[in-house]
Amino acid sequence: MDHFLYKDGALCAEDVPVADIAAQVGTPFYLYSSATLLSHFKAMDDALAWSDHLVCFAMKSLSNQAVLKLLGDAGAGMDVVSAGEYKRARAAGVPGDRIVFSGVGKTREEMRIALEGGIRQFNVESEPEMAALSDVATSLGVVAPITVRVNPDVDAKTHAKIATGKAENKFGIPISRAREVYAMAAALPGLQVVGIDVHIGSQLTDLDPFGLAYDKVAELTETLRADGHTITRLDLGGGLGIPYRAGNDHPPTPAAYGKLVQEKVGHLGCEIEVEPGRLLTGNAGLLVAQVIYVKQGEDRQFLILDAAMNDLIRPAMYEAHHDIIPVVQPAPGVDPVQYDIVGPVCESGDTFAKHRTMTPLQDGALVAFRSAGAYGAVMASEYNSRPLIPEVLVQGDQFAVIRARPTFDEMINRDTIPEWL
Ligand SMILES: *Cc1c(COP(=O)(O)O)cnc(C)c1O
Repeated sequence: MDHFLYKDGALCAEDVPVADIAAQVGTPFYLYSSATLLSHFKAMDDALAWSDHLVCFAMKSLSNQAVLKLLGDAGAGMDVVSAGEYKRARAAGVPGDRIVFSGVGKTREEMRIALEGGIRQFNVESEPEMAALSDVATSLGVVAPITVRVNPDVDAKTHAKIATGKAENKFGIPISRAREVYAMAAALPGLQVVGIDVHIGSQLTDLDPFGLAYDKVAELTETLRADGHTITRLDLGGGLGIPYRAGNDHPPTPAAYGKLVQEKVGHLGCEIEVEPGRLLTGNAGLLVAQVIYVKQGEDRQFLILDAAMNDLIRPAMYEAHHDIIPVVQPAPGVDPVQYDIVGPVCESGDTFAKHRTMTPLQDGALVAFRSAGAYGAVMASEYNSRPLIPEVLVQGDQFAVIRARPTFDEMINRDTIPEWL
């Protein structure tokens, strides 16, 4: 469900024609819908209504502060993976007691920043990290609430680069070693065990791997309680997949996921946390681009866009599919053609789609990549010295640039040429 629909032949974001925004902002740009973000958040929040719960938005998927404020004001917590994300969330007004800190390589400096600023919990991923956190908390004279992230060794059946719950992955502590690690936590000063954390991967389109993982978490909860630990909170991670092919992909709904969670761990009486990223943001964003040239190749036609892999790296990095649609609704009865859709960057990997069936387009036409809200803008770079592209947020009939396009001078003046050159 999203709010990017054709109205009178023009693609609109909520009530604003995308072409109007393009005329004011220039292309390419990211475009987010507030109503879509909020409805996705509400779907997950409602799915857990049976429990005492907190939906912690995995802000690495889309970390613009306007989006953080929108979701934070709606009651979301945040899942952060760096001090930079922690500071961004706080700058957007999210209180520390709604922020959980994940990640395999938290530095002592990052721990200090979060402990001083206020934090709901650290999700600890290794024994050395636990020892470091104990040290930092003790030296500050505070107690750090923790869960231990366990690796349940289940196959998330997703792309290898975004699977995190197999024994071969760098994430979490093997669930077979959980008891000794919790014993270590209980013995260290400055730490307070509050629960268990698990996150098995991203873009899961089947509930079964979640079920397997949550069964193991439920069993571990009972074991750890019998060992004398206080387990009152289960952080069940993110990862629920979204439809990338409109009309063809049918991932499980948040409601079905919420029901599974209730079945698997509801009887334990724990507070539930989840960390959805893509689910909230993926289909709440478009990447809008313009056709620079239609180029005839030996055996195919190329649609060369002004957006490139530096702006949206998912196709190059994960072989990801994005629906790409024209901003002017195709007239009925026009025969479609096939294009390879590419960007201007000097790499063959700068290909968004091959043999894509589209309505015929001319130079200057606008197109929109659907499902570009998650892991889009946040993964962008200035490769080929292409300035980062702007982000725009729509709400009803209004829109605002929430990150401006840097000028060429702003981009190149970040370099410093040493005096001795
Ligand atoms: C990336 C990540 C998430 C979010 O994953 P999505 O697939 O975007 O929901 C949640 N928790 C942790 C620990 C992560 O690393």
